[in-house]
Amino acid sequence: MPELPEVETIRRELEPLISGKIFVRPVLHMPSTIESPSVEEFSTTLTGRTIENLTRRGKYLIINLDRGILVVHLRMTGNLSYSVNGQPREERFLRVSLPFTDESALHYFDMRRFGRLWLVANREELHTKVLKRVGPDILEEVDLEKFLKLLGKRQRSKIKALLLDQGFAAGMGNIYTDECLHRCNIHPRRQAGSLSRTETEELYAAIKAVLADGIEYGGTTFRDYRNTSGAIGSFQSKLAVYGCKGEKCRCGAKIEKITEAGRGTYYCPNCQK
Ligand SMILES: [Zn+2]
Repeated sequence: MPELPEVETIRRELEPLISGKIFVRPVLHMPSTIESPSVEEFSTTLTGRTIENLTRRGKYLIINLDRGILVVHLRMTGNLSYSVNGQPREERFLRVSLPFTDESALHYFDMRRFGRLWLVANREELHTKVLKRVGPDILEEVDLEKFLKLLGKRQRSKIKALLLDQGFAAGMGNIYTDECLHRCNIHPRRQAGSLSRTETEELYAAIKAVLADGIEYGGTTFRDYRNTSGAIGSFQSKLAVYGCKGEKCRCGAKIEKITEAGRGTYYCPNCQK
């Protein structure tokens, strides 16, 4: 499942490729991919719009247009691919084709079909219609002071569940949460209110460091994540705990797997207290 580093990788790759491109009428192979507005309004309104730049909030990719904003959430298995000649790399799982006036195109693929696209008129609609329950971007919009303030409001929450909660802060998913808690030696079941000031600062630093590493390696690919040219990320080779049940931690102890916040959670019982 794409998390912040995967979406940021896609954003960085796509921005130079598609900025300045003008959409022609989209081809909706699976119309239910469009969450809002209606399929007809989506197609009519997007046609003729120019891409200005790409931003991101958590796992949402935000494509800013000369008028309006196109938003993409990849959910479980969505991916985007840019094609210079406009042809999709394959037909399988192709849900939406977004061709441009220069005959190149952006294609949206999704095996599981949970991903969604929105087209909104302006920033106000972006916040009311798409990002209403989405917290600040954990990488770009949360400094240490804000992090302390946010944690202060959620003292009774367990730390793993809290980091996964996109309403608390947006961007972290299962993989990077486990990696970050291992990096700062914090047990996933600790309550936020039990963390000392030093532990909180170390957690904050670990979040930033793990996400930065994930972006540097082009994201993590277990099954479906692909970057915009169809290549896989390489952060999976750097994972210290996620998916490593029974393997040795840096301390020599065996990594364990538990269920926390409804998710398979990997940690080291020796390092993480
Ligand atoms: Zn350990």
